[in-house]
Amino acid sequence: MAGDGGSLSLLKGTGTEGPKLSGLQVRGLRAGYGVMEVVHGVDLEVAPGELVALLGRNGAGKTTVLAATAGIRRGRNDGEVRLDGLALHERRPAQVAAAGLALVPEGRRIFTEMTVRENLRLGAFIRRRSAASEIEAGIGMMIDLFPPLGIYIHRKVGELSGGEQQMVAIAQALMARPRVLLLDEPTAGLAPLLAEELYSAAIALAGGGVGVLVVDQDMHRALEYSSRVYVMEAGKIALAGTSMELRSGSAVEKILRGIDR
Ligand code: ATP
Repeated sequence: MAGDGGSLSLLKGTGTEGPKLSGLQVRGLRAGYGVMEVVHGVDLEVAPGELVALLGRNGAGKTTVLAATAGIRRGRNDGEVRLDGLALHERRPAQVAAAGLALVPEGRRIFTEMTVRENLRLGAFIRRRSAASEIEAGIGMMIDLFPPLGIYIHRKVGELSGGEQQMVAIAQALMARPRVLLLDEPTAGLAPLLAEELYSAAIALAGGGVGVLVVDQDMHRALEYSSRVYVMEAGKIALAGTSMELRSGSAVEKILRGIDR
């Protein structure tokens, strides 16, 4: 289980240069589809080493927030996205990924006709051209994180189970060594045990200093494993807090069930 401190140390004073920001900061994010705005000014932060959950009912805007943050939502209308202080909101998706912000979208967009190994190697080239030894070391790290990938390393991804494919998708994103990883419903459709394994891997990543923001439909699981939670309602953040403080009350459940508070 993740630590429950949940405190953010995003602002580190650096004298005349102004505050040095670390991790991901999203400010005033507005996004939508065509003329319809569905995300109405979202602020959120993910510090290095934090596992943060983004919850909300169907249609609340979670996927749109992740996509707009990663720059793949062309309908992003306004707002600021910064990674370690670097402004990413004007950049193209490939530049955002190269800067260290990775999105694993729902539905695992991986290459099913390619082997696990080929998929992982591709992931390494998103950020920059890496030396062969570096790629091999990265593949080794991914097998440590997700041991089944070692067994299936030469198999075509299309022949793997849904859970194994999800591991490949996350590992592929990690091969680019992101600073912050955005995971959109990584446990959707997975058996509970496998979902727990994925969370264990996410906690290990956070332990290694990566900031992780995960969208999950399962409130209890998200509150158990994350250190902080944001809850969206109708395109806005309706509630934010540490998982420990939110676990004990019914505030999250009320929003997710649409009960008036
Ligand atoms: P879910 O949990 O069901 O995936 P979500 O919280 O991720 O939902 P979004 O997928 O971000 O929510 O959708 C937010 C709103 O935007 C919804 O009203 C949805 O109908 C709308 N929407 C999503 N994708 C599109 C699209 N491609 N075109 C038009 N409207 C869209």
